[in-house]
Order: sequence, then C-alpha cells, then structure tokens
Amino acid sequence: MRGSIEDRFIGSILGLAIGDAMGMPFEGWQPDQIRDYWKDKVFLPSPPRGLEPGQYTDDTLMTICHLKSLIDSGRMEPGDTAQKFIQWFDSGELRGIGRSTAISMQRLKQGRSWQESGATGEYAAGNGGAMRIAPVGLFYYNDLKSLKEAVRQAVVITHNNTEAVAGATAVAYLVARGAKGDLDPDTAISDTREFVGDSAVSKNLARAEALLKDNASPEEALDVLGTSGYVVETAASAAFCFLHTLQDFKDTVVNAIQGGLDADTTAAVAGAISGAFNGRSKIPQDWISGLEDKELLTSMASKLYDVCKRNE
Ligand SMILES: [Mg+2]
Repeated sequence: MRGSIEDRFIGSILGLAIGDAMGMPFEGWQPDQIRDYWKDKVFLPSPPRGLEPGQYTDDTLMTICHLKSLIDSGRMEPGDTAQKFIQWFDSGELRGIGRSTAISMQRLKQGRSWQESGATGEYAAGNGGAMRIAPVGLFYYNDLKSLKEAVRQAVVITHNNTEAVAGATAVAYLVARGAKGDLDPDTAISDTREFVGDSAVSKNLARAEALLKDNASPEEALDVLGTSGYVVETAASAAFCFLHTLQDFKDTVVNAIQGGLDADTTAAVAGAISGAFNGRSKIPQDWISGLEDKELLTSMASKLYDVCKRNE
C-alpha cells in the first residue's frame, strides 16, 4: 500500500516542485555536462537567474495558481484561473516564464477572455500546460470524464494548441490514476494513449513504451524521445523516467534532470507523476527539507484534497 490518497496529493505537488527546483540550475544544459558537474549534489543555485538552491521556477509558480483557483472555486474555473495567472504575472516574480504564456498574459491584460488569450500556431505546442497541470489531474482523479475538458480549459488559457492540450492530458491522466491508486504500470502508456487520442504526443508515448520494453537506459531513451520545451518530447520522456524506476522517486527525478535542455520541466512533470503514484512518504526527507515553501505547498495539496472530497 502506497499511503493514503491525501499523501499522494501531497507527493505529487512536492514532487513537482522538487523536480523543478532540482532541475532549475541545469535548464539548457547538455546531458553530459550535467552528469560531469552534478554527481550527488541535490539543490544548486542558478546564478544567472539569481535563484538560490531549492527555489522553484515558473512551473511551480503556475501550479500554485491552479491550486489556488481549484481550492477557491471548487472546480476548474478557467476565468478565475486566468485572473490568478495575471496576479502572478503582475507580481514580476516570473522565474523563466515561457513565450506563449507571456503572450497570453498580455492578451488577458488587454481584456481578451480566457478563450481568446492562448497563443496559437505550432510554437504554442510548448510544455507550459503540461508543467502546471498536476493539480487538475489530482482534483479530477475520481472523475476522468470531467478531467479531459478541465485540462483543455486549463491549457488553452495560454496554449491554444491541440498538442499542448494532448501533452497536458497525458500528464494529468497519469497523475490522476497514480493518485487514485489503480494505475497498472504494464498498461500505463497504452491506457494513456487511448485517453489522449490520436496525436504526436500519443505517437511519442508509443516510442517510450517500446524503449521501456527494450529496457533502454534513461540516457538512451531521453536522447530518442527528446527533452526540449516541445510538449510531445516532455510527456514521453517524463513517462519513461517514471515507469523505468516505478517505485523510486529519487531515480526518476535524477534521470529526468540528466536528460538536460528543459531539465526543470521534464523533472517537474516526472516528479509530479511519480509523487502521485508513490506518495510523499517515498520522497527523500532531505529533498523536502531543502525545498522552498514546502509547508505552503503541503498545506495547499491537503486543502485541494479536502475540497475534492467535499465535492464527492
Ligand atoms: Mg521553469
């Protein structure tokens, strides 16, 4: 038994923030540079960004917006979520905001609605939706039917692109099934692909499944699947890292970071999924201790669970 559902809600949110904060200094690095430099260190600073060890980035900041909105509204309420994104944007504490998100924040501030604010076109297939979707996956863990539409509404605020929605749907699905406790590792990817439907995200997930079957190393697999800011790559690489070391949160996050490039986001997504599946109790205590705002994140995840239960 992997702890209570509440423990898995907390595990997912802490797991996301830990992956983000641990990957943060390595964003844009190549895998071999990271392996040479990092060794067994945990949190490191990012001097160019002025961030200290254990600080998280935009991935977690936007996740917090979703947490607040779901707790306040008692459901996915995209108009309210958009307001919370703007409050964050206006705070100036952006920590690596993505291009599509910046565009959509300007549009919202000009008075466009959440349906019209999201960036469009092929460059909107970024991972900005997938990186922050864990709270939505948790909230709808027992209602997969509603989950799909909730994810779409959450993503299009900033990324009005079918692959961005597909990637976030894949991540939210894995988080939801992990939190519920009924995810079958052997069929996890085929179940996810069925839920997501035909898409480039689904095709790259099939590649991840084949690499898992061939017992490929994470190094080899992430090189094939990709670790850029393109969500098709992020979803597949994070799913691979999770399933490759199913019960080992630590190795899942380390492997995701060592894939390089968009290291904070790949690790945030892998951490959110692994944390939902394994629960907080499987996250190393010293990793939690070193994380910025661990109490706040823990209490928000608990509150999300309470609101979710009240709705049932
Ligand atoms: Mg980031």
